[in-house]
Amino acid sequence: SNSLFKDVTLPTGRVYKQPTGLFINGQFVPSQTGKTFEVIDPSTEKKIVDVSKAGVEDVDTAVKHAKAAFEKWSQEDPETRARALFKLADLVEENAELLSEIETMDNGKSLMCARGDVALVSKYLRSCGGWADKLFGKVIDTGKDHFAYSRREPLGVCGQIIPWNFPLLMWSWKIGPALATGNAVVLKPAETTPLSALFASSLCAKAGIPAGVVNIVPGSGRVIGERLCTHPDIKKIAFTGSTATGRTIMKNAADTIKKVTLELGGKSPNIVFADANIDKAVKDIAYGIFYNSGEVCCAGSRVYVQDSVYEEVLAKFKEYTETLKVGDPFDQNNFQGAQTSKAQLDKILKFVDIGTKEGGRVVTGGTRVGDKGYFIRPTIFADVKEDMSIVKDEIFGPVVTVSKFSTVDEVIKLANNSQYGLAAGIHTKDISKAIEVSNRVKSGTIWINTYNAFHQSVPFGGFGQSGIGREMGEAALDNYTQVKSVRMAI
Ligand code: NAD
Repeated sequence: SNSLFKDVTLPTGRVYKQPTGLFINGQFVPSQTGKTFEVIDPSTEKKIVDVSKAGVEDVDTAVKHAKAAFEKWSQEDPETRARALFKLADLVEENAELLSEIETMDNGKSLMCARGDVALVSKYLRSCGGWADKLFGKVIDTGKDHFAYSRREPLGVCGQIIPWNFPLLMWSWKIGPALATGNAVVLKPAETTPLSALFASSLCAKAGIPAGVVNIVPGSGRVIGERLCTHPDIKKIAFTGSTATGRTIMKNAADTIKKVTLELGGKSPNIVFADANIDKAVKDIAYGIFYNSGEVCCAGSRVYVQDSVYEEVLAKFKEYTETLKVGDPFDQNNFQGAQTSKAQLDKILKFVDIGTKEGGRVVTGGTRVGDKGYFIRPTIFADVKEDMSIVKDEIFGPVVTVSKFSTVDEVIKLANNSQYGLAAGIHTKDISKAIEVSNRVKSGTIWINTYNAFHQSVPFGGFGQSGIGREMGEAALDNYTQVKSVRMAI
């Protein structure tokens, strides 16, 4: 109904119509519970809009429609699915500036970050469209009077649960490969950031994606997130978020033996060798931790610097960090916007407090900026020890620890001293050393002389407790297909 589209004025002065209902079977509808929740702008602490809050019954309705839509969508010609994803990519591109502004208002990230996200969204959707007609099986020779072939078939209805740090990008990482391979989805955005996924999903019909193939249900993780995990007609759960919630999701998905892929937390090491281009490495380690206000699962949050350049790197890192401005994310002079919620700001400040009590030294930052909006200065800790919680635990904010090492063996031991294994950075001019260290560090992504560099064709995912499965690239197709073997006598 029309009352579910609200005029919202963005901080840039632009006015747009924000869908505020649940997106089910191609329509925006109110929750059957009649409930709504407030969406807050973390830069101003003001309410943006009320959004319908899905209950268990809404999830069940969405799954019913998704199941029916799947039967048709999975039988469509691959080109039809490809065309729809290409068109959706075009529509995202046409609305790129609006979507970036919505994301910045809802999440608090700088407009520069949001523009980067949205650019990758359209590239990735287009890339997924390209896979739709390239789902090859194999022919297997099984003897002279028989042979076998394998097909890759979609799974069915997929439940997808995403976090608040890259709301629109995660929407695309989830729906892109699922739709390319012929699945239907019921996706739950994070409570604090549902706006961009709702808006972008309103583009699905224009792109030619049939009603019911994409359904969006904003609401509580514990209530409807759990229903997605236990619903008998959902065949798969794809989740991005914290490792703790990942564990709960696996447990809840166990009764119905759902396929589960998880993109979880990290505490990624960023290693600077003495032979690195130091000035560039300093910028890379700053970008590695402070990009997107530090709310990045693969943030390079543990910096290890070789002892002979430790003092130099620390001094330059402090100096450079102090040039990074924090504040209004729409002001292009600001590198860092707001943290996404009060809860996150409080959590980060608590870590700063714990880190100080544990004996860490705050080199710069450590304090909130202003008293309106959830802003915090980029923070560097030195003099840390490996057993401190600021070195072990994911903080998920602009807080980094710096410590020193002397040998390759020592730094590999330090780098691998974590339950996580999402990413790692290596800064050196020595190719052999770069390759040796990248082979020995246990993580799903290694960045050499760069950091936080993403590409739609390069798989991303975690070792250890950082997750299961890979997103992007050809690897993402495995998350949404199952192999059928057909054996035939001649
Ligand atoms: P979270 O993992 O609890 O939330 C992520 C998503 O999971 C949200 O959509 C949430 O509603 C949903 N969810 C929560 N409980 C659920 C449940 N029982 N069943 C199904 N879905 C559920 O993360 P958070 O509480 O928003 O943030 C806490 C911490 O998680 C952060 O401080 C950070 O350390 C980490 N985090 C990591 C990532 C990442 O990309 N790795 C993203 C967001 C948060």
